[in-house]
Amino acid sequence: MHRTETPQAARVLVVDTAFPHVDGVVSGLRARGLVAANGFADAAQVDLVIAGLQDAPTGVPWIAVVDAADGAAREQALERGATAVLSAHVDVDAVAAAVELALRELDRSRMHERLADLLARVEAAAGVGSFEYEPASGRLWLSAEARRLLGLESARVDGLVQAVTERLAPDERRRFGEWLSLVGPLQGVREFECRLAQHADAVEWVRFSVPLAPEGTRLVRGVIEEWEEPQSGAAAVAEFEVQPDARAFLGALERAVGAAWARNGSIAVYVVDSEELRAFSSGATRGNQEYVLHGLATRMRAALRDVGIPEGVDGAHVPPLFGRASAGGLVVAVQGLRRHDDVLAVGARLSSWLSKPVHVGGRELVLDATLGVTASSPECRDAEELVRRAETAAYCARRQGRKRVELWEPAMDSEAFERLSLEMALRRALSRDEFVLHYQPRVEIRTGRIVGVEALIRWQHPDLGFVAPARFIPIAEETGLIVPIGAHVMHTACRQAREWSDAGLPPVRMSVNLSPLQLHDRGLLATIEEALRTSALPADRLELELTEGALMRDPASDVQLLHQIKSLGVHLSIDDFGTGHSSLSYLRRFPVDALKIDRSFLRDATSRPDDASIFSAIVLMGRSLKMTVVAEGVETPAQLALLRVMRADEAQGFLLSPPVAADRAAALLAKGTLGQAAA
Ligand code: C2E
Ligand code: MG
Ligand code: MG
Repeated sequence: MHRTETPQAARVLVVDTAFPHVDGVVSGLRARGLVAANGFADAAQVDLVIAGLQDAPTGVPWIAVVDAADGAAREQALERGATAVLSAHVDVDAVAAAVELALRELDRSRMHERLADLLARVEAAAGVGSFEYEPASGRLWLSAEARRLLGLESARVDGLVQAVTERLAPDERRRFGEWLSLVGPLQGVREFECRLAQHADAVEWVRFSVPLAPEGTRLVRGVIEEWEEPQSGAAAVAEFEVQPDARAFLGALERAVGAAWARNGSIAVYVVDSEELRAFSSGATRGNQEYVLHGLATRMRAALRDVGIPEGVDGAHVPPLFGRASAGGLVVAVQGLRRHDDVLAVGARLSSWLSKPVHVGGRELVLDATLGVTASSPECRDAEELVRRAETAAYCARRQGRKRVELWEPAMDSEAFERLSLEMALRRALSRDEFVLHYQPRVEIRTGRIVGVEALIRWQHPDLGFVAPARFIPIAEETGLIVPIGAHVMHTACRQAREWSDAGLPPVRMSVNLSPLQLHDRGLLATIEEALRTSALPADRLELELTEGALMRDPASDVQLLHQIKSLGVHLSIDDFGTGHSSLSYLRRFPVDALKIDRSFLRDATSRPDDASIFSAIVLMGRSLKMTVVAEGVETPAQLALLRVMRADEAQGFLLSPPVAADRAAALLAKGTLGQAAA
């Protein structure tokens, strides 16, 4: 047992004069499987030497043997690198124990050296360095490649945070400190991209990234890599920051357009529009917003390099300009694109770079970005008008769905005009009482019993007739009208539920959809309380449906808000699950009672057998998180049958009943069940 743990075939040399009983020691070591020899064999061929002070070897690990009473000799031995010190009169057992310990130590340090060497070589080949940071103590460790990238080869081991900070461009230092302070508690962004101060040997840009680690991890481990190819242009870099002030940006754009015009060129203006970004911007802290915008601008800059537009083209030295668009998005103005095809190609490139996830606030933000673009022309050289056109194009691109990049054209203005009139009508709709609610039953699959209804808003426009929620809810969200409209829905739905129960109908739970904007509205809690109070509906008979997108903000404050809502007794569900980018493990932190699986999953599960397993996996995970699993969009008996097999809890869909007006819904409730219960 003992022997197998001993490093194999270790050669131990015991110098003759080491012990008075040297022969006994040697044979004792041999008997224990330690290959031992005595004499003055070539020290280079052995792993460990046991010797007196006078015979101390160099370059080989050794155990010193000294007179037990000689304290000075012991000191001297340690100074000369002895791994252990033995007294000349110890017995063979003690020598063997010391030898085994030394050999094991030796083995460990060799292994460590090998790994360190391997790591260094792999990192050098990949151009990626690694680091380790201990938030509690503020200590930082850098690998050799990390030091090379940062130009910190000769920095001292202690005080590395300070050394790295000093290597950054002065205007990046504060951000770095902030990033470090947040990276530990998992609230901050996972990546940090920054510019270094000018340095001959180091790269110009680096990116730190840290994988998500479990909460409470003592050490944060991450990698450092070069972020963009070093290219010249300090002037360009100085202008690279996102202009927070719209006027300053427009001024710079105006000048760029003028300069391009003087050279017969034009400027392409791109506006990035993303629902996720908007939702995020409306709720995120300023700091987090800046991180995200800065990160996105950095990506866009990289995207521009990809297509060969580093910092201005044709020696014009007009770098891309970055500004903020009105609704929380980004504007970038690029010079040097000659053909429409190029303008679209650059747009496509920008959009693909933007689609890479950003980590912020402990979660992943995936932007489904749409870009609108226009170019300055003899007909239009006004900066404000250019941005407006690009915004209109982005808006139209989004309305049409799917399309990633859209070039502005005059006809779009009439579409935008149409939208504007819709927006004005929507503003009046509430006071004119043009909204009604329809109700769609939710059924317990096992029994066919109606367990709830979902309130779905309908708009009866005086001229346009029925306007679908998909058409007006986005406008209501963009304009903030969703907050009063949502409050109206909440009150009406609660009152309706109460009326039904007063009329003696079986009790059901009333579901109300919440838009992200409502969740981020300070008055939400009060609105819920008031709706419950004035209707006298028991709180547990109300359920609020949130989409994953609604939970995109700072999760910490969302979790708190949801707990407050839950503490009223109200139920919570995740709507359209699977269409956002969150994972179930992410959702686990929210106190959610039910998971409504988006209808696209059920559709795919019945049409493509392979996809049935995806659906089934979602059901299983939902159940394991103790959530009620609800299938949305049940349209066929085959789908209902599949749901039974997969053991989903509840179902909602046209097969059972479409959303219906209140009187129809009351009749369904009186009946109590829908569809056929399981045999
Ligand atoms: P949702 O909350 O996921 O509601 C379900 C939608 O799917 C409803 O569309 C419903 O009519 C439709 N649906 C139900 N069963 C089936 C089916 O079997 N097949 C198909 N193809 N569709 C089915 P609707 O009423 O047009 O509402 C669309 C979305 O508008 C809702 O999706 C919800 O996100 C939003 N919405 C509706 N009312 C409100 C509201 O009062 N407030 C807010 N913030 N959003 C609302
Ligand atoms: Mg819903
Ligand atoms: Mg839904």
